[in-house]
Amino acid sequence: MSQKTYTALARKWRPQGFDEVVGQEHITRTLRNALASGRIHHAYLFLGSRGIGKTTTARILAKALNCLSSEAPTPDPCGTCENCRAIAAGNCIDVIEIDGASNNGVEHAREIRENVRMVPTSGRYKVYIIDEVHQLSSGAFNALLKTLEEPPPHAVFVLATTEAHKIPATIISRCQRYDFRRVSASKIVELLRRILDQEGLRASDDALYAIARAAEGGIRDAESILDQLIAYCGGEITYRDVFDVLGLVDWAVFHRLCDAMLSGDVAGLLGVVEDVVAAGKDLGYFVEELLRYFRNLLVCATSPNPALLHLPEEDFAELRARAGRFGAVRLMRIVEQLAGLAGNYDSLLAQRTALEAMLIRISRGVEEVSLDTVLEKLVLLSEGGSLPPASAEVNREVPRSPVEGGRSGHPTERNRARAETTPREPVPSQTHSAGIQQFQPARSNEEASFDRKVPERGAGKGVAGSPEKTGLAARERPPTPEEQTALKKVFELFGGMVVELPERKARIQMAVAEDTEDTEFPGEDEQED
Ligand SMILES: [Zn+2]
Repeated sequence: MSQKTYTALARKWRPQGFDEVVGQEHITRTLRNALASGRIHHAYLFLGSRGIGKTTTARILAKALNCLSSEAPTPDPCGTCENCRAIAAGNCIDVIEIDGASNNGVEHAREIRENVRMVPTSGRYKVYIIDEVHQLSSGAFNALLKTLEEPPPHAVFVLATTEAHKIPATIISRCQRYDFRRVSASKIVELLRRILDQEGLRASDDALYAIARAAEGGIRDAESILDQLIAYCGGEITYRDVFDVLGLVDWAVFHRLCDAMLSGDVAGLLGVVEDVVAAGKDLGYFVEELLRYFRNLLVCATSPNPALLHLPEEDFAELRARAGRFGAVRLMRIVEQLAGLAGNYDSLLAQRTALEAMLIRISRGVEEVSLDTVLEKLVLLSEGGSLPPASAEVNREVPRSPVEGGRSGHPTERNRARAETTPREPVPSQTHSAGIQQFQPARSNEEASFDRKVPERGAGKGVAGSPEKTGLAARERPPTPEEQTALKKVFELFGGMVVELPERKARIQMAVAEDTEDTEFPGEDEQED
């Protein structure tokens, strides 16, 4: 590093013209066209998350309106005239930047109303940039509204906010609205690469992608992470450096966690969590990282294109091996559960991942089981048949509900025998079997051979009065209270995987009870030792 004072990258590389603003082309193009044709609006509303260029664009707009290099507002401010330089430096007398959070009272809005009448000193327009405008009090909004209703011809307001829903509709309707987007990872990487090139520094591609991912679409965040890394690394910035500087959890920890999950090693799982807590890591952040990791596993399991992940080769190989062992269905459930857990942290990643998992599940609709199928199997069971074997994958995928505790981890002799037979239809049997014990008459192990005679859905070849026939007939009538209870339990356990067919005649009420005690099964406690 040089001896002179260091300027933060975000400041040093702040875009000076519309064409330098990254990832907001839909906005800069519109603004440029408006400026070129002289259609200047008096109030603009800039919406979008922090650090993605709202204030920067507002300043460029101010320059465009007041640049002295042309006779009228221009889409290409020169950047060198007195006004352009003063605006860039933040000390132009006609461009007033107001922090809405600390100037939110009605008196501040009245002050604006008084001052806005005065003609600009050095430029053509007086530009008011009010940041965090949603923080204004209702009195202040009312005063501001009066100004917006009858603005003097030389006034332009740019209201910037991260929370559009907190802005009164009366204000919004007076403004031209621009929605700023989070910037894609590839665009951020492109920008960081350009900065590094000009700074004469080097970084690996996967390191830059890791920065872009951590910044979650925010340019300013990405630049300040890069700042940290430049200070931390002597030479080239590597993927590993990003992990160290951001305090990310080492993936070796996640690999360990995965292996413990796969082998049912509870002590190992708790050991990992203990290590994380002992290392002083924030648990919320850990869940986020874990979600990111499992999302990567899911991508590995479902997509033939590893380039989606932008990971180093060795990490990718590790991921792929584990993704194969979990299987896509189980990964989807895990990712959704983690996204739910991380949902409390209001993150883009949690939202996105839950959405992705849902979409993948929908695209694999064939793997869902209808409640009718479950009911049919339940009836067969009570008539002396037995559940057909569950698909190995669905079987393993099952989340453990708090009601049943760890019981599903210890399948009975019969369940085990069943799991060994060939998978036929993905009807979950092993886990919920604890809940439907009451339907199972005593039967010997030899009777398990009956499993293979259970007809497929819709086969309908059973003899009158046979278990097969009764099973199918169950689709035509409302379920008995016992069946209803058992179905409810199945529904709770398998959530989105069990669906109710819309054409069913007798509806099955599947509202999941708030109080899980309702779904406790008689005799359940005695089964636990
Ligand atoms: Zn200029």
